[in-house]
Amino acid sequence: MPLTPEQSAEIEDLRATPRQTLRAVSEGAEKHLYKAHPVLDHGFVRMIDYMGDDAAICQAARVSYGRGTKSVQNDEGLIRYLMRHWHSTPFEMCELKLHVKLPVFVARQWIRHRTANVNEYSARYSILDREFYIPRPEDLAAQSSQNNQGRGDVLGPEESARVLDWLREDAHRAYGHYEQMISDDGQQGLARELARMNLPANIYTQWYWKVDLHNLFHFLRLRADSHAQYEIRVYADAICEMVKDWVPAAYRAFEEYRLGGVTLSASGVECLRRMLAGEEVTQETSGMSAREWREFVGAFVLKDI
Ligand SMILES: Cc1cc2nc3c(=O)[nH]c(=O)nc-3n(C[C@H](O)[C@H](O)[C@H](O)COP(=O)(O)OP(=O)(O)OC[C@H]3O[C@@H](n4cnc5c(N)ncnc54)[C@H](O)[C@@H]3O)c2cc1C
Repeated sequence: MPLTPEQSAEIEDLRATPRQTLRAVSEGAEKHLYKAHPVLDHGFVRMIDYMGDDAAICQAARVSYGRGTKSVQNDEGLIRYLMRHWHSTPFEMCELKLHVKLPVFVARQWIRHRTANVNEYSARYSILDREFYIPRPEDLAAQSSQNNQGRGDVLGPEESARVLDWLREDAHRAYGHYEQMISDDGQQGLARELARMNLPANIYTQWYWKVDLHNLFHFLRLRADSHAQYEIRVYADAICEMVKDWVPAAYRAFEEYRLGGVTLSASGVECLRRMLAGEEVTQETSGMSAREWREFVGAFVLKDI
């Protein structure tokens, strides 16, 4: 269960006591504030705070004294221009603070994004909960034969049942030993900072994560992408839903120029020019490696010739 009834009550309490402010308010973000959006079997992501809105991006870009808004249409045009031309600093004026509960192996991927501020639950100070990520059978797949870094076909029912049993058994056995090691019942009890070392990577941790919108878009472009591991992608997808409501114009520009856009190499541009001029270009004549060519063809759903 992502939240206990007490935690849910605390959140309801926070949402029940709004205050007046002179700061920029995003109605879309207000909808999400404090609420936990469940992710995986025990995880969640929830918005703790935000700074700025679409108008704040324009305000910074124009270095204006007032709200920065000319008209909604005008603002959207400016935001699209900024995104299109990688004029990134106005997006850094908006910030998002999240509370995330996630398995440790997902946290290891996430923490590689260095341009955020993080404060993690201390397993030196506190005792970790007995909560492990156990995938759904449909998410258990074999090693991909095409991509060394990914997964391929879903495991058959027998193998998947065996894997799930081992995942559960190993996690609970390790946690049982963890509890026994830290217990001071009839023994000194090992320090928490040491006892945690036998816990599996699918145990859940939690952190507060604060990032500006420019770097958040960078994170989302990499982690909401089909090449990202499913277990981090589902968090990125949940964050996308919040960002869409918080800064709708910026998110639309992000979808248009980053998520849905394609970056072409010089060889790619040249190939496209030759193709548009009627030439039949193949991988051999493209100047691209086989992999690059596959990606190029895939991006435009071109017929591989
Ligand atoms: C599909 C996928 C597979 C991956 N596979 C691997 C893997 O096999 N092994 C592995 O180790 N990692 C892997 N990674 C992690 C990846 O290499 C990056 O570390 C991670 O995506 C964070 O990206 P970033 O550094 O751009 O982000 P951030 O740390 O948020 O940085 C954002 C940008 O700030 C700048 N920046 C930040 N810090 C510095 C700095 N110290 N010096 C210079 N510029 C800086 C860079 O321009 C950077 O792009 C993978 C990531 C993905 C998405």
